[in-house]
Amino acid sequence: MIRIGNVLVSPGEGGVYGERMLEGYRVWDPYRSKFAAYYLLGGELELEPGMRVLYLGAANGTTVSHVADYVETVYAVEFAPRPMQDLLEVARRRKNIVPIMADANRPYEYAPFMEGVDLIYQDVAQPDQIGIAEKNLIFLKPGGHLVLMLKTRSVDVRRDPADVVEEARAGLSQHLDVVDLRWLEPYHHDHAAIVCTRRG
Ligand code: SAM
Repeated sequence: MIRIGNVLVSPGEGGVYGERMLEGYRVWDPYRSKFAAYYLLGGELELEPGMRVLYLGAANGTTVSHVADYVETVYAVEFAPRPMQDLLEVARRRKNIVPIMADANRPYEYAPFMEGVDLIYQDVAQPDQIGIAEKNLIFLKPGGHLVLMLKTRSVDVRRDPADVVEEARAGLSQHLDVVDLRWLEPYHHDHAAIVCTRRG
């Protein structure tokens, strides 16, 4: 990942959502993107030029656009019409984003457009985040990674966030190796990044 001093950046054309530029690079803001927060808090998963990524919960394409600056292709799934309009505009300006309007709960609906991916990034903020991740593992290559941004309050607002994360970790470890678990404070409250690897 590219840093200038302690600022995380990505190498692409600017002006996507009003992001700052620094020495010709796009500044990737940890307050606007959980993935940027993960990196600034010590996350070590490198985005590589040859990677294919399935991105679940693309919203208006803010984080998608930075991921696309680093990797080969991003399949970006979003089900809400309003952010989808912005995502389409972001995809129009970048050749390596495939926008897919679909429910991440129904991966068979977009399976015809998909290929095997090296990384699944999920940020859907839904009660059944773990179930959604599991359904999409059909696309993950052996040795590939899942990065799940868990919003504990979406799972259950009454429970202790640490318990919610522990339950998620235990559930994911039935299918995958959990290799990192990182709270995203102070950038995103009650959110944790859970990084897993698919056994080869
Ligand atoms: N990842 C985005 C970013 O960093 O720029 C922010 C994502 S926002 C927290 C969550 C998004 O997931 C919303 O746009 C919502 O519409 C979408 N979403 C929630 N459930 C979904 C589902 N089942 N299928 C597809 N998109 C979903």
